[in-house]
Amino acid sequence: MIWKYRVGWVFTICGLPIQDATLMVEDGEIVAIEESAIWPDAIDLREWSVMPALINAHTHLEFSKLKYPLGTQGMSFPQWITEVIRYRQGFGDNIGVEKAQAVQKGLRESAKYGVGVVGEIATLPLTEASYDHSSVHIVSLLEVLGLDPERVAERLAQAEEHAIYPWSLSNISPGLSPHAPYTVRMDVVQHCVALSAAQQLPIAMHLAETMEELELIEEGSGPFRTMLENMGLFSPADFPGGKRVLGYLKQLSQAYRALVVHGNYLHETEIAFLAKHAETMSVCYCPRTHAYFHHDQHPIEELLAQGVSVVLGTDSRASNPDLNLWKEVQHVQKEFPDIPDEQLLGMVTKDAAFALGVEDSFGTIEPGRRALVAAFPIPGDGPDVLTEMLAGQPRLWNLGNGLSEVDLATT
Ligand SMILES: [Zn+2]
Repeated sequence: MIWKYRVGWVFTICGLPIQDATLMVEDGEIVAIEESAIWPDAIDLREWSVMPALINAHTHLEFSKLKYPLGTQGMSFPQWITEVIRYRQGFGDNIGVEKAQAVQKGLRESAKYGVGVVGEIATLPLTEASYDHSSVHIVSLLEVLGLDPERVAERLAQAEEHAIYPWSLSNISPGLSPHAPYTVRMDVVQHCVALSAAQQLPIAMHLAETMEELELIEEGSGPFRTMLENMGLFSPADFPGGKRVLGYLKQLSQAYRALVVHGNYLHETEIAFLAKHAETMSVCYCPRTHAYFHHDQHPIEELLAQGVSVVLGTDSRASNPDLNLWKEVQHVQKEFPDIPDEQLLGMVTKDAAFALGVEDSFGTIEPGRRALVAAFPIPGDGPDVLTEMLAGQPRLWNLGNGLSEVDLATT
C-alpha cells in the first residue's frame, strides 16, 4: 500500500528541516522525501509539522496504572525501592494479568504523546500479548537481578532465553537490563554483557543514580547495605568496598550497545571514559524523575561538552506523573537553556535510536525508516516552527496506515 503526504515542515533529524515536503510511504516504510510538491494526489498536511516518532529510552511500563508516583517527593531512594517492592507484592498471584494491562495502558499513553519506541524494562512473568500494539515498537530489556546465589543460574538462563526468544510480533526487539549495582553481582553483569555482544543486543543498567549507591560500591556500607541485610541478600564478598562506578562502565563498554540509566552522580573520570566509548555507550537522563528525588544537578552539560551521547527517558509512573516524553524535553529546555533546540530533538530521536540499537528503523525521517512520526498541529508557514513545536505537544502518527479524522483533528 502506497501513501503520499504533503507536509508543512518535516524535521528529518538526519539533515536540515524541509518546508513543504512530500513524503512517500510504502508498506509502512518511508521510500522517498522530496522538497517540492511533486505529487498532486498527496494527502494535504500543510497545517502540520512532523519529526520522527519520539523514543522514550527508559521506562518501566508495568507501573503505568499508577495514578500518582509512589512515596513522596524528595524521599530517600532506598525507601522508595521498598515502596516499589511492596506495590509489586500487592498483586499476589494476579501479577501477570495486572502487569499486562499496565503495559498496554502505558503503550496507549506513549502513543498519545508522540512516542513510537520505548526502551522498556521488562520483568517476568512476561507475555507477548502484553506488547500487542499496532504502532509502538518495544525494545524489551529484560530486568536481570542477581544477588541471591541460589537464583543466579535461573536468572541467567531466563536472560539467555529472552535474548533468543522467537517473538512472533514484529514490534518487539529484545535486550537485557542487569538492574543496578545494588541488585546484581559483577559476574552477572559480565554474563549479560557477553550475551549482548554475542547477540548484538542493547543493554541498559541503572548506574550512578544515587549517593547511597556510590556509598555501597565505594564503602560497602550505607542504607542499601541495611536494605539488603534486611532482605537477607547482603554478602560482604559482593560489596567489599573500594570499588568504583568506573568498574561497571568498563564492563558495560564490552557490550554491543550500553545505556547508562540516570548517571546522576557521574564524575570527571567516568564522563571521560564514556566520551571515549561514545560509539557504543550512551547516558539516559530522566529529568522529571531526577527532580522527584531532589538529586543534585544532573551532569548533562558536562556529558554533552565531552561528546557523550545523552538521551531522555520518563522512567516510570512510580516516580513521574505521566509518560509524556515531550514534557521531559521541555523540562531540560527550561533547566538547561544553553543546550541547542536541535540537540534536544536528537536526544529523543536519532541518538535514542542508536542507544537502543534500532537506528536502522527509527530515529530519522529518510528512506528505509519506519513511517512513524510525531505530528504537531503547527502550520508550515509560521515564523518559528521549532519554537512552536517545543512549546506544543506531538501525537503519534503511523503514516503507513493513512490517517483518520481522529488523527487529523486539531484539538
Ligand atoms: Zn528505571
